[in-house]
Amino acid sequence: MTEGEQEAGESPKKITVRCPFCLTLNGVDLNKSGERPVCGDCAKPLLLDRPVKVAGEDFDRTVLGSEAPVLVDFYADWCAPCKYVAPLMDELAATHEGALLVVKVDTDQAPELSERFGIRSIPTLILFKAGEEVGRSTGFEPEKVKTMAEEAVSSA
Ligand SMILES: [Zn+2]
Repeated sequence: MTEGEQEAGESPKKITVRCPFCLTLNGVDLNKSGERPVCGDCAKPLLLDRPVKVAGEDFDRTVLGSEAPVLVDFYADWCAPCKYVAPLMDELAATHEGALLVVKVDTDQAPELSERFGIRSIPTLILFKAGEEVGRSTGFEPEKVKTMAEEAVSSA
């Protein structure tokens, strides 16, 4: 599997993520996630080959402001079907590392986002490109979600 290799000279895909250790906001080029970026403040690794938890206050900057497509999993800890989606999100984050940012939002912590995006049941997965919703899946629809992710990264 070398087909996902980035070509030299590809334009940067800038994203902004908060360090889970010291909570500093870091600007990162997602194309370079394979070079193991670290937090500019505490130097701990910023792990982008797995889902990143995003709080409501960071949503606009991290998700809508991303230059790479972002797949968001709206979930809650008490939601049983969400537990089926979690490994799928892990898989997509690893498969599309460097091309797709995978984000998890705890809807209990960010009820305003549920209202803003009209989320009536969880799990709901929304794909964003350039700050716009381009795809949505409700419940456990692994094939649909995989296709959504593949289309998003191939047409990026
Ligand atoms: Zn840090």
